[in-house]
Amino acid sequence: MISVEEAQESILSRIPILGRERIYIADALGRVLAEDVFASRPLPPWANSAMDGYAVRARDIAEASPESPATLRVIDEIQAGFESDKSLGPGDAIRIMTGAPIPGGADAVVMVELTECGGGDEVRILQAMPEGEAIRAPGEDVRKGERVFEAGAILLPPAIGMLAGMGRANVYVTRRPRVAILSTGEELVELHEEPAPGQIYNSNSYALAAQVREAGGEPILLGIARDNAEDLESHLRDGLAADLILTSGGVSVGDFDLVKSTLGDLGNEMHFWRVRMKPGKPMAFGTLEGRPVFGLPGNPVSTMVSFELFVRPALMKMQGKSILHRPLVLARLLAPLSKSPERRHYVRALAHWEEEGWTATAVGVQGSNIIQSMVRANALIIFPEYETELAEGCQVQVVLLDEGAALGPRPDPDALVAAPRNAEI
Ligand code: AMP
Ligand code: MG
Repeated sequence: MISVEEAQESILSRIPILGRERIYIADALGRVLAEDVFASRPLPPWANSAMDGYAVRARDIAEASPESPATLRVIDEIQAGFESDKSLGPGDAIRIMTGAPIPGGADAVVMVELTECGGGDEVRILQAMPEGEAIRAPGEDVRKGERVFEAGAILLPPAIGMLAGMGRANVYVTRRPRVAILSTGEELVELHEEPAPGQIYNSNSYALAAQVREAGGEPILLGIARDNAEDLESHLRDGLAADLILTSGGVSVGDFDLVKSTLGDLGNEMHFWRVRMKPGKPMAFGTLEGRPVFGLPGNPVSTMVSFELFVRPALMKMQGKSILHRPLVLARLLAPLSKSPERRHYVRALAHWEEEGWTATAVGVQGSNIIQSMVRANALIIFPEYETELAEGCQVQVVLLDEGAALGPRPDPDALVAAPRNAEI
């Protein structure tokens, strides 16, 4: 059995970065740029006004004060979106709106609050202004030819605004991984079916599909394969259209755990099976016709935790992301924990940001079938392999599954319902 780190290394060393595609920037949120982006024009493209006010010649108002205003002749008005064909001579001003191009001859803008109507076509300026005042210089945000983004940048909302500001409608990004999801088991029924005695709903496919989406992938649901080689094989073949295959269940040592052998029959090269962790020990990882295949354990919590630790980083890498793992923080344990040695435990927990730093508390019952433990958790406490006791108050490493929730209102670890995720802070 290998450690979590060995498993992660084995996986990531075999994960390719996908090719690129050109997409509309409105669809590009969270995608990874697959080209360097250079500014084809400066931003702003020309000098423009930062204020609603009057474009002036600074020297004409050098002596202006509230007691002795400078009186100027208003020769034009420029709305944003237009330019003036007039140029300022001595004693002239042009009424100008925010974003409108600075007219010829002007070298400062006086905001309207520092002016008074002079009657007729005159304006009184109540304060002197230095040259350049309230003028936005061309290229002050981005210079023409400047490299604005490097390949590998993640397109967050400001980056998308910047691309739009430069007139870029489409960009190359790394493709999203298409992820085939197959649940296995005689006991499973789909959501539109009524479970007969001994049957349960297939929940893993849906949890996994959501996890895939959250990680930036496109889930493809392959349904349920029964525990026989023929059905497994035909479903697994459907997965060959995807970039990555996930199965759940059937990788343990039970009489009907046929996933590994069936994958082998299809030509899968198995890299490892079983990881020294709980939940999620019976996990298999292989390569089938060049694509990574994860045989995830069937217990719903094991499935989700294994996804978090092994599949999510792989999907991040496929998309060209540089940060592959969830944030890891040190936290003060609020209640003691104990376990038997040898396997590392990932304890479903609530992390919370307090004045003195992070704290963590386990959430109730921890069985690998207790979906509630994942629903309520926003973090996983790492309980090291060879430790058996963690005392109250000790420092533990915690994987943050949801930083927003961990920073929000302090949740009640004993509450039966889920803590509000991404609560407003
Ligand atoms: P297995 O590894 O196939 O023996 O499954 C372990 C446990 O997980 C059993 O209790 C299964 O009923 C359960 N399980 C397996 N697959 C699913 C699934 N898709 N949805 C919900 N529970 C499942
Ligand atoms: Mg099974």
